Amino acid sequence: MIHLKTEKEIESLRASADLVGRTLGAVAAAVAPGISTLELDQIAESYIRDNGATPAFKGYRVGREVFPSTLCTSVNDEVVHGIPSNTVLKDGDIVSVDCGVLLNGYYGDSAFTFPVGTISDDTKQLLATTYDSLMLAIGQATTGKRLGDIGAAVQELCEERGYGVVKDLVGHGIGRHLHEDPQVPNYGRSGSGRKLKSGLVICIEPMINFGTAHVRTEGDGWTVKTADGQPSAHYEHMIVVRPGEAEVITTFQYIENVLEVLPYKQNAEVAHG
Ligand code: MG
Ligand code: MG
Repeated sequence: MIHLKTEKEIESLRASADLVGRTLGAVAAAVAPGISTLELDQIAESYIRDNGATPAFKGYRVGREVFPSTLCTSVNDEVVHGIPSNTVLKDGDIVSVDCGVLLNGYYGDSAFTFPVGTISDDTKQLLATTYDSLMLAIGQATTGKRLGDIGAAVQELCEERGYGVVKDLVGHGIGRHLHEDPQVPNYGRSGSGRKLKSGLVICIEPMINFGTAHVRTEGDGWTVKTADGQPSAHYEHMIVVRPGEAEVITTFQYIENVLEVLPYKQNAEVAHG
């Protein structure tokens, strides 16, 4: 069942979304060679609790599995749902950080793939394309368009560039629950699927692999990796469907304020020489 949000609910969701953005900003300031993903997790958990909210992923259940951490930290060939650990980030790695919060009864959810130190040009291109595909998808998320328009925007750009679009995991509605209807796939056909109505709040979150689209889940029950061991990127925004232009309620601004080089702008320099 799809629950369209009132302006009052959207106001609450904006606050949750902003807190996720600020938390990712705090994480961004710490991402560097030598830090462990567990340390990043501790930074995020303290930040969220200090701001009167609770981590949304910690204790999240799927069947018998319970997610143990505040962040999902997915390094290199890990696509999503990586569990923070003593694994230390190295120069040339990428780490996808997904963060969820619960503030005043409403969820926030956003993700960003960070370069660690200096990354390869191939990896820069992957990050930039994943980001670009998110922006194209957001451009489709307006009143009267369809879910298939969002998925098609991601799929067409990423596949044209030879990347694998993960199909086993999808975006979602969000509100008083972390995952609400509808599912928001990163693939599809333009003009197909459910019509988008004003007030629908969804997370759009392309998960794009350098190589094959196929993924597998590790023995820990959570970590999703690429089947071929090549890297994967993930960017996620929360948006409100509006006439003419979607309202993006999460922000990467707090991240952009602290990163010296942005993964997507870095690419623009590469692409245009
Ligand atoms: Mg997320
Ligand atoms: Mg999500």
